Amino acid sequence: MRVFLAVDMEGVTGVVHPDQLTPDGRNYSQAQKYLVADVNAVINGILDVYPEAEITVGDGHATMRNVLLEELHPAAQLVIGAATLSNKPLCQLEGVQFGADAAMCIGYHTKAGTQGGLLAHTYIGSLIAELRMNGQAVGEVQTNAAVLSSLNVPLVLVSGNSDLESEVRAWTSSTAFVATKRTLGPTAAICKTPERTARELREAASKAMISRETWYLHDIGSTRFEVDTKQPEQCERACSHPQVIAVSSSTFAVEADNAADAFRQLWSVCLTALGDLPFWLR
Ligand SMILES: [Zn+2]
Repeated sequence: MRVFLAVDMEGVTGVVHPDQLTPDGRNYSQAQKYLVADVNAVINGILDVYPEAEITVGDGHATMRNVLLEELHPAAQLVIGAATLSNKPLCQLEGVQFGADAAMCIGYHTKAGTQGGLLAHTYIGSLIAELRMNGQAVGEVQTNAAVLSSLNVPLVLVSGNSDLESEVRAWTSSTAFVATKRTLGPTAAICKTPERTARELREAASKAMISRETWYLHDIGSTRFEVDTKQPEQCERACSHPQVIAVSSSTFAVEADNAADAFRQLWSVCLTALGDLPFWLR
């Protein structure tokens, strides 16, 4: 059994504020400990069912150097490094293409524009006002589910902020969900302690691994991604990319036969749209 864990940080135990999310933030190192504890709990849950499982953890937040390697469960290996084009064209999912039987999204958040959503955004907060996949506004989890499915990997568990549950339930009933905290607003939540979330994450991961009859591919076939940019100059830069379809002065699109190929194009165009790359993409 091979399992890929796509790991973000905004939906991890105890994380409610941008200060906890970047290396220069005041509570970042504490949040790193919460992060690796959530990930280890999920790994333990997988190993409870498949003691020989091969587990790859994809560090998928910002610099993608957040998970503490020395504290990671020794049964897992870790994908470390920024999502530049030459490194990680699949962004948070880079590494999954080397083989996985199931995937989980750990520590996630709601999509850009979610009313009252805790640390809500879609991939690049400064760029993406809304991302649509075949016409429907989507967040990172749904996008990842489609990309994973086009690579034949079912998404079997999602963990994150409580406001994410309804976003996930809007498109799937087969993927399990664990809330690490109850969202109050953009930077506040009622948080469960690490001990409690570790127990819940371990149990949910075990249950998801046992319930193979519920695993489901959210394959959407031909895929068109459309991005509403926050600033018109971002769209202008995007439209200089050879693979882009200009839709309006603030919206661009990419298309491909499957979600993974469309996503690789999307990520490439988004990096072009940014112009000067932020520190976490260098
Ligand atoms: Zn994210």
